[in-house]
Amino acid sequence: MTITDFPTTTSGIRGGVAGQQALDAAQFQLAEAVRFLGLDDGLHRMLATPRRSLTVSVPVRREDGRMEVVQGYRVQHNLSRGPAKGGIRFHPDTDLAEVTALAMWMTWKCALVGIPYGGAKGGVAVNPDQLTVRELERVTRRYANEIQPLIGPEKDIPAPDVGTDEQTMAWIMDTYSVNAGYSVPGVVTGKPTLLGGSLGRAGATSRGVQIVASAALGDPAGRTVAVQGFGKVGALAAQYLADAGCRVVAVSDASAAICAERLDVADVRAWAAEHGGLLGYPRADAISHDELIEMDVDVLVPAALEGALTGANARRVRARLIVEGANGPTSPEADLILADQGTTIVPDILANAGGVIVSYLEWVQNTQAYSWSADEVEVKLRDLMEGAFREVRTLSADRGISLRQAAHAIGVGRVAEAHRLRGLYP
Ligand code: NAD
Repeated sequence: MTITDFPTTTSGIRGGVAGQQALDAAQFQLAEAVRFLGLDDGLHRMLATPRRSLTVSVPVRREDGRMEVVQGYRVQHNLSRGPAKGGIRFHPDTDLAEVTALAMWMTWKCALVGIPYGGAKGGVAVNPDQLTVRELERVTRRYANEIQPLIGPEKDIPAPDVGTDEQTMAWIMDTYSVNAGYSVPGVVTGKPTLLGGSLGRAGATSRGVQIVASAALGDPAGRTVAVQGFGKVGALAAQYLADAGCRVVAVSDASAAICAERLDVADVRAWAAEHGGLLGYPRADAISHDELIEMDVDVLVPAALEGALTGANARRVRARLIVEGANGPTSPEADLILADQGTTIVPDILANAGGVIVSYLEWVQNTQAYSWSADEVEVKLRDLMEGAFREVRTLSADRGISLRQAAHAIGVGRVAEAHRLRGLYP
């Protein structure tokens, strides 16, 4: 199968270059899984098409009184296995194509790790770094209002993603609750613990990355690691990998990339928090973003955005293991090149599933108006991550396919089976 050999069932959706590439990659991966599973064309079409896509215009009043209008999106890709679940991204380049791709990956991810959700994603095309806190709050609340008909604890549950955080979730929960007339903590996950957030949610995606990286490595002690993206996922992934005995030698964010013989990750995190990024960190050498991707390390963790590893740079990647903290960081072309080079990739829908797993645990706690200890949450997270990793590795080994193909085969297969069992209405 060539990489252009994917169905055009979402061809009505055209995005910018990055969003379109993400959607093309998601469709390619689905097409491969459909072929592997022997699913028919009709089912393929169902799985390739989002159930609901909402585009909203969000008016924003700036501090100087000017009014701007930004585009927002919420896509529910699939609802066969339960309510839709997926993060909300605030990024200037986000568009409907990117959000659709991210929603599809959420569907397979939830099915793969066995939590009872379909997939969704949301996005607002703003740069949160260029808004004041009050402007950000107004954008968030207005966007939440616009998508309110789609979301709810039994329908679709947002969570943080790129450019959003616990505070964003608190504002969305408040907006939804004010409109409902009573507090509805279960409408979002990844909220502050004081409002019903789960212990362990903030670091859950990163903990999951560390768990599968350790499982793939066998013994993590002394292994060298480079992490692209030093945000919510990347910074704590670097920390947990260092805590597990790895030697973190390079990290980057949008502002800079740095390397050292052994980075003191806690010190780098504290410095980045104080200075708003890595630029100027004094106890390491500055390198280029490309140099970080091409470093001779045991493990590379892309934890920024899509399109980090492409046909243009994959041949220069020297990492032996890639653990995808980000969604969609590796293009299908890069996948083929890296497979040829013998690089193992733990794919996004497995590697970064820790976030949605603990989001699920948060939602269960909210539903029961009860909370679990951090240890209880961590044990459940570990069980689900390690179980999914074992399943994927076994299928990959048994059938001679990549970990990504195996993960998609399992995730897509479960959603297809749910469709078959439910039948088609009417
Ligand atoms: P974030 O906004 O907290 O952090 C993103 C980081 O990437 C920032 O440090 C930013 O400076 C950096 N970055 C952007 N462009 C870069 C570049 N070209 N080179 C290096 N760094 C760059 O976002 P996040 O929540 O950490 O999400 C990161 C990725 O993980 C996304 O793909 C997201 O979809 C995925 N993810 C997040 C979660 C979650 O729970 N937050 C869960 C699963 C997957």
